[in-house]
Amino acid sequence: MITQKQLLQWLETLVQVFNDHKDYLTELDAAIGDADHGINMSRGFQKVGEKLPTLPDQDLGNMFKTVSMTLISSVGGASGPLYGTFFLKASAIAAGKHQLTDEELGTLLQAGVEGVIQRGKANLGDKTMVDVLTPAVEVYQKAIAQGDTIKEALVKTVATAEQAMKNTIPLMAKKGRASYLGQRSIGHQDPGATSCYLILKTLGETVE
Ligand code: ADP
Ligand code: MG
Ligand code: MG
Repeated sequence: MITQKQLLQWLETLVQVFNDHKDYLTELDAAIGDADHGINMSRGFQKVGEKLPTLPDQDLGNMFKTVSMTLISSVGGASGPLYGTFFLKASAIAAGKHQLTDEELGTLLQAGVEGVIQRGKANLGDKTMVDVLTPAVEVYQKAIAQGDTIKEALVKTVATAEQAMKNTIPLMAKKGRASYLGQRSIGHQDPGATSCYLILKTLGETVE
């Protein structure tokens, strides 16, 4: 089970994480994009952080909806609407709840990924955030189904996400700005895949 308090803690920590990784993510985006992914994510989560004090009284559905709207209106770029969609789909699963079972967390993550795919139309191997989200969520759900604790499942999820993030290096980008570079996008780690890894890593650290 994961509680509202833990999920709030996750979001709170992400404000710090994206502040700390601003330059790193922007450097990654400088190589194959327009050098703003770190700025986009830190600005977006800074705004989420400002909304957090109003969230504990609301159910998880409203909490994630606020996150979604805040990211859509403040992140910009390709990643703003994509992460916005992720949290909007999450909010539908979490509606009326103040905690999630291990299975419900899997359903929520799965709905989020499906939203990102619907919105961005990226396939696996296109060198995007989908390359991290898809295998990571799959591993989480499989682990829970076979009886892992949520902590064990998240450890596997984060390990999978880290490997999947590194696996974007040799890929050629087929979506987003990096795709304009064609062959020259090869040899660089995708910035959005990296921010996804950070989001999942932080979730893993939130659960004891
Ligand atoms: P922008 O490219 O508009 O400046 P960001 O730099 O914030 O936006 O985000 C870039 C990241 O967004 C990429 O590294 C990639 O992971 C992700 N991305 C771009 N287009 C798509 C898409 N169609 N589907 C999924 N992810 C995408
Ligand atoms: Mg960019
Ligand atoms: Mg941009």
